[in-house]
Amino acid sequence: MELDEALALIRRVPDFPEPGVVFQDITPVLGTADAFKAVVDAMAQTLTDVDAIVAIDARGFFFGAAVAYSRGLGVVPVRKAGKLPVVGGKAAYSLEYGTAELEIPAGMIEPGQRVVVIDDVLATGGTAAAACELVELAEAEVAGITVLLEIGALGGRGRLAGRKLDTLLTV
Ligand code: AMP
Repeated sequence: MELDEALALIRRVPDFPEPGVVFQDITPVLGTADAFKAVVDAMAQTLTDVDAIVAIDARGFFFGAAVAYSRGLGVVPVRKAGKLPVVGGKAAYSLEYGTAELEIPAGMIEPGQRVVVIDDVLATGGTAAAACELVELAEAEVAGITVLLEIGALGGRGRLAGRKLDTLLTV
């Protein structure tokens, strides 16, 4: 399947999970074998000279794990606070109301490694920025951020200024 055809399967769901938000539902991409392959292959092609993948809780796990497998790399899950038994570092990020924390498992990234952060959707960029902070806390290098879809109007790209950012689709 062509990449465009795969990306056309993403559903826009107005007013979810709250009024005013247009939720970008990537589940049809996950559930359609040819689309999932087209998207994972395209995300994997954005990687150059990478030692490890960091995948963001929760939908980033699907894409991060598949890209890592296709490139013969390990995948490190960055999780919402309280889920990991052995925490190596934590970083706060802002939500619409208040803040939340992301945690990285201890000992999974070596200092000096080149790491790509993968998620499904880039909105305000707070989540991706926190994941990058965790990579750098581990004294590794953020080689790039790859997402399936970027919501341009929310300014996430600006928040990640100076970093390599690859997106398959901007809405
Ligand atoms: P942000 O930190 O604002 O860039 O939000 C990105 C994270 O929240 C990603 O992990 C997305 O899965 C999720 N997210 C935020 N906004 C949306 C949206 N409109 N549709 C789907 N997922 C979203």
